[in-house]
Amino acid sequence: MATAETVNWIKKAQDRITRLGSHTVRVGVTGLSGAGKTTFITSLINQLENHQRGLLARRAPFDRLTSVRWQREGVTRPFPYLEALGALASSPAQWPSSTADLARVVIDLQFRPEGLLKSLQGNRSLRIELLDYPGEWLLDLPLLGLEYGQWCEQMQALLDSEPRQSLAGDLRDRLRNIDPAAVHDPALLSQLTADWTAFMLRCRTEGGLSRNQPGRFLLPGSGIAADMLMFVPLLSANRYSEGPAGSWWAQCKERFNYYRDFVVKGFYDAHFRQLDRQILLVDMLTPMQAGQAALADLKLALEEVMGSFRYGRNSLLQRLFSPSISRMAICSTKVDQVAPAQQRSLQQCLEDLVTDSISEVRHGGVEVQGFPLAAIRAADQEGETMIGGLVGQTAFIRYQPVTVPSHLPLDLKFAGPSLLHLRPPSGLHRNEPFPHFRMDELAGWILEGRQP
Ligand code: GDP
Repeated sequence: MATAETVNWIKKAQDRITRLGSHTVRVGVTGLSGAGKTTFITSLINQLENHQRGLLARRAPFDRLTSVRWQREGVTRPFPYLEALGALASSPAQWPSSTADLARVVIDLQFRPEGLLKSLQGNRSLRIELLDYPGEWLLDLPLLGLEYGQWCEQMQALLDSEPRQSLAGDLRDRLRNIDPAAVHDPALLSQLTADWTAFMLRCRTEGGLSRNQPGRFLLPGSGIAADMLMFVPLLSANRYSEGPAGSWWAQCKERFNYYRDFVVKGFYDAHFRQLDRQILLVDMLTPMQAGQAALADLKLALEEVMGSFRYGRNSLLQRLFSPSISRMAICSTKVDQVAPAQQRSLQQCLEDLVTDSISEVRHGGVEVQGFPLAAIRAADQEGETMIGGLVGQTAFIRYQPVTVPSHLPLDLKFAGPSLLHLRPPSGLHRNEPFPHFRMDELAGWILEGRQP
């Protein structure tokens, strides 16, 4: 008799074979809020649409590309490409609105055939499907392996240390003072849930912290009702706590279980297992500017996010979903903010931050490659200085480029760069390729091994 593991393995091998022969590449694009997902996808579609004029024109297989069609009709939750273009083309140019939900992009490409058969064969087609989703949703992955009481213990430990202790203010005491076995008060629970969400938001905006759970409290996504997000960690509870029906414990535990089993697991079930490749975008510069605590938190958040790409033989993910992501690109974004000679150092700092996670992802059989990217180049170097425009202003300014270390110190302590908030360059138009750094390399990576 075949064991469950063998059946799983055979199913996965069959899936892989079907995918290799298929003409669709399914690519997930994720990153924490502000990482640059929306801008990245906008630029990627723009580079493909303008393949005859940008850097893609000189890169195989795009030099054989004859037509590109970005599909809008019949796509559920289409990516707002036209809205993003509208913001970029306004005066002064604005960045598009950030990703707060799942969105899809379908791009059909047609290529001239190559080699001896080219006169006999018609055009070859290939479809790229991009799934853009907030990385915050992946921070919830560990919840799949947790009981409610264990989650309360973890949150207690987080709120016992700075900077979260101060950011939580009196919310920490209010949650600690609740007796898990007492009858729960629905109005107070609703208030505490709102306060927990506001606390998570402060962690993100004031503390520069990334690891904020439950992820959907900040970015619910469509189809999620407020009722599904009505629980908080009881800070005096632990894995041995109990409470009768109607108690705080019973109520919060029931909602936590629903969130874990339907919201979190539902996302992995419906979308994640379909993906062939994954792009992970990371803004390193903002936490480097915020300092050691923000970097340490980003490290933990990325380790949790990358947990979704760790497919050791008996991993939780392998058992639950048998995912088939075989390649991952990890990209530091917005590298146009540093001088071109420093862009690789920025990518190195990112890879230093998550060295262990990268090894573990590779160990699970996923090929990992790094790209320092700028989806849209907002600044140019001229001699020793940089030149760019600031958000909300049409004029350009000249400034000294920020410097980053060539490696991240192990204790994450160093004088962080001081950044300017640059706006996109003026004069961007849908029918011209946007200036960028390495979007062409990344586009090549998407098609590698699937060339028509
Ligand atoms: P998302 O939340 O991951 O979708 O991130 P966005 O694409 O909305 O980007 C967040 C912010 O980062 C934007 O509003 C810009 O300020 C900045 N940004 C994004 N991409 C770039 C880039 O390529 N270069 C520069 N200089 N800034 C960028």
